[in-house]
Amino acid sequence: MVTEHQVSMVSPAIVARPSVVCPYCECPAPLVRGKLIYPRWPDLWEKPFYMCIADRAWVGCHEGTAKPLGRLADSALRQAKQSVHSAFDPLWQAAHDAYEGAVSDRVYRIARHRAYAWLAAHLGIARDECHVGMFDVTTCTRAVDLIRTLAPTPKTIRAWAKARRGA
Ligand SMILES: [Zn+2]
Repeated sequence: MVTEHQVSMVSPAIVARPSVVCPYCECPAPLVRGKLIYPRWPDLWEKPFYMCIADRAWVGCHEGTAKPLGRLADSALRQAKQSVHSAFDPLWQAAHDAYEGAVSDRVYRIARHRAYAWLAAHLGIARDECHVGMFDVTTCTRAVDLIRTLAPTPKTIRAWAKARRGA
């Protein structure tokens, strides 16, 4: 029985939550508050996460919703995803190297879109499946290897995107 007070504490988006399954044990992952996961980070205490306690695996939600950001990640996958972000994020965050003039938010969005398109093409996956949050450890490793081997930059990705459009 949920009291009126408890209901008022939870936003409608969170009440209408999707069912999320832990990819490791295939059990339903309940929605929990960040306080359970990050007791030292008060900023995260009220944020919703889907968590499997047995696997120490969790995933956050899109801001203001109960929509998970990807699949639940255990500590190995969390580390692997962090490695992808370290290798990948500079490919669009350093857009000022490749785009003349004042680099606006729009330019960063374009650079980011192109960097994801580049990564998707090289991983051989669809652009809309290319979200680090959805990657498993194998895909993370492949992504980092590709970036290290091919060493793209915002400049080469911009040229790649233009050549591809012209093809
Ligand atoms: Zn689990």
